[in-house]
Amino acid sequence: MRILVINSGSSSLKFQLMNMIDREILCKGLIERIGSAEGTFTYSRGNGEKIVETREIPDHETAISLALQAITDPQAGVIKDLSEIDAVGHRIVHGGEKIKKSEFLTDEIIRIIQDCVRLAPLHNPANLLGVKALKKLLPDVPHIGVFDTAFHTTMPEKAYIYPLAYEYYKKHGIRRFGFHGTSHHYVSLRAAEILGIKPDKFNCITCHFGNGVSISAIQNGKSVDTSLGFGTMAGVPMGTRAGDLDPDIILYLIDQLKMSVTEVRHLIYKNSGLKGLSGLTNDMRDIVEAALAGKKRPKLALRIFTRSARKMIGAMATVLEGKLDAIIFTAGIGENNVEVRAMVCEGLEILGARIDLQKNLIRGKEGIISTDDSRIKLMVVPTNEELMIALETEALAQGARKN
Ligand code: ADP
Repeated sequence: MRILVINSGSSSLKFQLMNMIDREILCKGLIERIGSAEGTFTYSRGNGEKIVETREIPDHETAISLALQAITDPQAGVIKDLSEIDAVGHRIVHGGEKIKKSEFLTDEIIRIIQDCVRLAPLHNPANLLGVKALKKLLPDVPHIGVFDTAFHTTMPEKAYIYPLAYEYYKKHGIRRFGFHGTSHHYVSLRAAEILGIKPDKFNCITCHFGNGVSISAIQNGKSVDTSLGFGTMAGVPMGTRAGDLDPDIILYLIDQLKMSVTEVRHLIYKNSGLKGLSGLTNDMRDIVEAALAGKKRPKLALRIFTRSARKMIGAMATVLEGKLDAIIFTAGIGENNVEVRAMVCEGLEILGARIDLQKNLIRGKEGIISTDDSRIKLMVVPTNEELMIALETEALAQGARKN
């Protein structure tokens, strides 16, 4: 089965065509600056050479036409005809409370995604543009939505309801949703496979440390808590986002410093976290480098990040009542940043997780980084959201074929 995976953002679109027999990536591409006269189109076959083109890309439909043309191009392409694509898997950010698993993108499901625009105003409209354009260009294949929020819909009420007056949940749907679900799901499944534990018996904490950061508690293969919440601000500080703040600070900024909602939003989403603390950058590589060179604010940023992450891991360990097999690091920082992992793990011995500093030197590949006598395994598992989307799409499309 050949599956096209699409991740449609507001001004960019990523695609990947996979052959599911051997999980080979036949080709992949990235289209950036959609809506501009200077759009860029990057495409490569398997592990082959990258083709980069600059051209006008007015809208998502043009972006998708370009992708489909490249895939079927007699020279650069990997298939002769679009009929060789068996299904399309779309990344969808928000499915709200109603969507608990991957779904065929029927009119009803599309309506639910539309309803969730109020919860993800930047992401869901962009995802829908991709769905609409592709359904038009490939009308005869199944289109399946894989939702970032779906994996966390197994959280119990006590984890997802905020201690606000209860009506705000009942009337307005304000609750914890959690994000990065596809990544948490993938790395937990892969870690269970590596350790030879059945997924439905596997207990772990997954640490997704990218530009966005979230930490989840997974019990018997299911998400039971996660650090991101109603929106994408809560928990550990991120590249440019503050993470947990005392809500009184927001009120103070508005009431006393007379900042507008737009200014506050900009401050806490774009100018805080690693960037705001270091006064330098949101990139963890540069923060670590500056901290090692003795610069004060990057050092502070690194300490605040790693302490906050460790504290959240501790909290998730109590949610799991200490019954956990592994703590897993993933995404840009989690997969690559040796110093951050070492600092986060400092002190996790109290949970029974002891890092091996030598084994910790791996970057960007799977491995166990705890000592042999560590009760809980510390692991690095590179995330692969595209593969997870393809696997979910394959499972649904195959099920439909059988029926
Ligand atoms: P996004 O959430 O945007 O997908 P990523 O998962 O790519 O982001 O994570 C971005 C972060 O990962 C940055 O802080 C960057 O410094 C860090 N990172 C990426 N590659 C490396 C690397 N090779 N070594 C250290 N840190 C890295």
